Amino acid sequence: MFAEVGTDGTGARLPGPVVPAIPNLHSHAFQRAIAGATEILSPSGGDFWTWRQAMYGSLGVLTPDDVRAIATQLYIEMAKAGYSRVCEFHYLHNDVDGRAFATPTVMADALVEAAATAGIGLTLVPVLYTSSGFGGRAPEPAQRRFVQSVDAYAALIEGLRGRVDLAIGFHSLRAVTPAQMRAVLAIDGTLPVHIHIAEQVKEVDDCLAWSGARPVDWLAREVDLDARWCLVHATHLTEAEVRTVAASGATVAICPTTEANLGDGFFDSEGYFAARGTWGIGSDSHVSVDAREELRWLEYGRRLRLRRRALSGTPAQPHVGAWLWLQAASAVAPTGVATGRIAAGQRADFVVLDTDNPQLAGRRGDALLDSLVFVNAGAAPIREVWAGGRRIVADGHHAHEEQSARAYSDTLARMRDAI
Ligand SMILES: [Zn+2]
Repeated sequence: MFAEVGTDGTGARLPGPVVPAIPNLHSHAFQRAIAGATEILSPSGGDFWTWRQAMYGSLGVLTPDDVRAIATQLYIEMAKAGYSRVCEFHYLHNDVDGRAFATPTVMADALVEAAATAGIGLTLVPVLYTSSGFGGRAPEPAQRRFVQSVDAYAALIEGLRGRVDLAIGFHSLRAVTPAQMRAVLAIDGTLPVHIHIAEQVKEVDDCLAWSGARPVDWLAREVDLDARWCLVHATHLTEAEVRTVAASGATVAICPTTEANLGDGFFDSEGYFAARGTWGIGSDSHVSVDAREELRWLEYGRRLRLRRRALSGTPAQPHVGAWLWLQAASAVAPTGVATGRIAAGQRADFVVLDTDNPQLAGRRGDALLDSLVFVNAGAAPIREVWAGGRRIVADGHHAHEEQSARAYSDTLARMRDAI
């Protein structure tokens, strides 16, 4: 934690300009292993749902040791990219045959160990997943590793409490029933709550057919939508739903590179930013593990649609890169941990920029962040990353990166036939 912050040189000195690190609000670590493996032309035209079938294919083999190796590699990559904390949306609860592990926390423990090796802060989001569709439809065989009773879910939360920062998670409105949501929300009234919502048009249509309401309208009617909630994607919203979310204080976790990769659609940044909604970013399926690229694509999506430049910011902060970086850094409610500002009392999560890197040459002040976000000419110009007062990246290097890369390659080699 920062005890005191100053620039007079009397305390610890850092080797470059310091900016808050960014929390990664949405991650499925195991999906790092299939990033790039589903980019094949399909005669029928691939979409989110065909990608999901490929993702399910990887589930036939993943062991806790595999997940530990994949997550360790991923979390080291995140640290080097300037993320100091990750919200891990965890629903890989069961063994390959669908039966509960003898130790129910074994998969969660693998994620906790991976984060400890990487040094990155972890907010573990155990996710309830019980159904294959709205109205409690029975799960598909391919979903056997996710499915859990509310009682087992509650036991998992209690088994992890005190060992890791926690949040509550629902996979989506299509994967849980209203009664199950109410039961889980009653477990703890203080933890952050994460849910995928309105990522796909089909999901919106199915929700309308089931309830007569769109997903965000339904959620706002049924729960106290407030600053505890993290709505992941929120891609297909009406203008009224955008205003509802913005006024609620909930955070939207926008995942631009995954949303682009899966063909989800554009988040309504125009309406949501105008309504001063709270938002952050997530790397989700990990086709990109780079906060800069998420922010760049958030802005470029706006430019491509409106055919204009330099759209995100305010009169008080007209530097687009600085506004994007600092907004994303301050979106900490879904993590449950006080980071996001360089100030006394905050957890000491920050990035030291490498001003010797040509990508930042000649820049000062907020213009440094504009170049950090918008110049893409090699590895990120990041010299150090600190999480919880510990330096986890030094001179752009992580102490475990070589060892982790070898373990990751071995894991992928074993998984080759499943992907
Ligand atoms: Zn997701």
